[in-house]
Amino acid sequence: MNGNTGAVPFLDLVDINAELQTDLEVAWKAVLQHGRFVGGPEVERFETQFAAYCESRSCVGVANGTDAIELILTALGIGSGDDVIVPANTFVATAEAVRAAGARPVFVDVRPDTLLIDPAAAAAAVNRRTAAIIGVHLFGQMVDVPALSSLADRCGLAFIEDAAQAHGARYSGHPAGSAGRAAAFSFYPGKNLGALGDGGAVVTSDVKLADRVRCLANHGRAAHDRHRHELSGRNSRLDSIQAAALSLKLARLDSDNARRRELMRRYRESLPASFQPVAVDPAAEHVHHLAVVRTLRREQAGAALSAAGVGWGVHYPVPCHRQPAFAGCDERIPVAEEAATQILSLPISPTLDDGDVVRVCDALRGV
Ligand SMILES: *Cc1c(COP(=O)(O)O)cnc(C)c1O
Repeated sequence: MNGNTGAVPFLDLVDINAELQTDLEVAWKAVLQHGRFVGGPEVERFETQFAAYCESRSCVGVANGTDAIELILTALGIGSGDDVIVPANTFVATAEAVRAAGARPVFVDVRPDTLLIDPAAAAAAVNRRTAAIIGVHLFGQMVDVPALSSLADRCGLAFIEDAAQAHGARYSGHPAGSAGRAAAFSFYPGKNLGALGDGGAVVTSDVKLADRVRCLANHGRAAHDRHRHELSGRNSRLDSIQAAALSLKLARLDSDNARRRELMRRYRESLPASFQPVAVDPAAEHVHHLAVVRTLRREQAGAALSAAGVGWGVHYPVPCHRQPAFAGCDERIPVAEEAATQILSLPISPTLDDGDVVRVCDALRGV
């Protein structure tokens, strides 16, 4: 659900990438000249850089974030007959990837303050079929890592991170990508670390698991014999030109995230009281992929923002378990269902200035 873009765009990808144009042209020229468009030296370089950034041992570039989740599950041997716990409040891709791996997504509720997966609800959903829990670091904030890790350890489950919205986020000082058995990242252009097309990565410190993901993502090919196919895999690889762009953008990620935090601080100062930003866990270092507020007047707020030329969105108006694609889950999931009617995403992007926040807040003051 996206509003108009205008005086304050929701996200201006042209602006975000404009400053890098010269560097991008140089990087792409190099790819054009060496011709290794898939799996070129840029991919290996980015994988090394991003693993280090995530304080993890391995990174495997893949085609997108949804594939990254599916490949982690398949590489862990999770599929048909298995349940995987996912929060009801997430982008639908988390659940789609579980289905694509052949497993069954089991939706659980979220915490009322952070709108992230509720560890108590996850614990209550564990049964004999449960194989994994996917903690989605939604909006840019990491889930309650200690609670989910200890639940996973206690019950013998894999704790997997969906870090598609959380590049650079931390919990108790540890970055997204280092908290679970493995983490899935998306580099969709609008993410905090965005390519100029689709891209994704699996990050893990389990080197054997990384090797298995790499093999699965490249037609099950053996590492040292391209004509030997050890697994029945698929094709999900990161392009060299995307990896080149991602290396350039990774160098700016921390300063971009700092700018997002500063914009959010200004929103907190200036928003009318009837628009409450989603809470931040004291142990979390949020990277504000989205600036989500709760309001009882979303319809009026959207109209006022659109009238003022401010872009806005809702992430997400229909919780996963209420989507037709996942019909059959009739259970009520009350916190996620109520939040879905109240959440509103305001513009936040490293290219916005302080005046933009003032314009957004002014537009909401009349609501
Ligand atoms: C974007 C996103 C994905 C999927 O990533 P793609 O690269 O678009 O496949 C998965 N989970 C969450 C939470 C996302 O925001």
